[in-house]
Amino acid sequence: MTYVAAENRYDRMQYRRCGASGLKLPAVSLGLWHNFGHDFPHETKRDICLTAFDHGITHFDLANNYGPPPGSAEHAFGSILKDDLKPYRDELIISSKAGYLMWPGPYGEMGSRKYMIASCDQSLKRMGLDYVDIFYSHRYDPDTPLEETMGALDTIVRSGRALYAGISSYNTERTREAVAILKDLGTPCVIHQPSYNMLNRWVERDGLKDALQELGVGSIAFTPLAQGMLTKKYLGGIPDGSRAAQDKSLFPSMLTENAITNIRKLNEIAEGRGQTLAQMAIAWVLRGGGITSALIGASKASQVIDCAGAVNNLEFTADELSEIEKYADEEQINLWAKSSEMDS
Ligand code: NAP
Repeated sequence: MTYVAAENRYDRMQYRRCGASGLKLPAVSLGLWHNFGHDFPHETKRDICLTAFDHGITHFDLANNYGPPPGSAEHAFGSILKDDLKPYRDELIISSKAGYLMWPGPYGEMGSRKYMIASCDQSLKRMGLDYVDIFYSHRYDPDTPLEETMGALDTIVRSGRALYAGISSYNTERTREAVAILKDLGTPCVIHQPSYNMLNRWVERDGLKDALQELGVGSIAFTPLAQGMLTKKYLGGIPDGSRAAQDKSLFPSMLTENAITNIRKLNEIAEGRGQTLAQMAIAWVLRGGGITSALIGASKASQVIDCAGAVNNLEFTADELSEIEKYADEEQINLWAKSSEMDS
């Protein structure tokens, strides 16, 4: 059946300016890291994306390697675009990235100009797009001059392959350097994509969150739900079909006794606020305006609806924040720490 987007979609979401740029992003964005590979039914992927758009989620985040196998999430999204979302292309912000392993040999990963530009072209082909809205360097490459990686982003933007440039998981020091290089090239760094949630607060410790605000660079926090830990689902064990049951990136060893005790307390606070824990986790990441958008993932459309509902209560009292502080305890769950600490 022909898809027609919900008429009230823009009444259901809030849009926030991405740093000092003119780009506005939805407070909640959708990422296609998991649940968009060959191991997932196409109808569910379609349902997730169209439900998101119907709830005002205009931003879809991809990367060359999302799958499995790598590339298949971009293929899947390309067919949803072709069948359903193409008429709405100018209402969408689509991003992709290059940094992780895509093909064998010395040019298949990291940050060389050779890899970045070839990978961007492959992503465009897989999605059937002329351009992406945002293209990212997915991780810092200690073996390539930063000028080369940023130069590749500049070329990607100037050649019309992308509208905006971004970086992901760069630490504060490398972020400052990358932002300065891009500024000199005349292609601003519009956005940084770091991991951030109540159980993974490295962006606060590292000073990255403050630095981005100072530099006027927007930010989109990935894994705001700690891959699903910041929901009720693991309070009674590991449910079948959940991410922790799949041994992919949320390992059962991450569900420590300390984490579960804290998540139970956080869930009580969320209930007191009249929202789900997922909604409170998103609101917490967005608190104070320092982060532009919370980048969630979903395995079913109902999760998207729940997460989009976070915008109905984004405010916290000082008491709520100090209560949350007691339980927003860091756990060893930052799988991307190596990337940001690579050269320090
Ligand atoms: P997340 O939002 O922290 O976790 C998503 C998972 O949480 C879902 O798969 C689902 O788990 C569960 N969930 C979501 N909403 C729920 C709800 N309302 N109620 C109960 N459970 C809910 O984010 P993520 O999927 O780990 O990552 C989000 C996006 O960030 C990715 O798709 C990608 O775009 C981006 N990302 C970027 C990088 C990078 O290096 N730049 C790295 C990782 C991710 P179940 O599957 O168990 O149902």
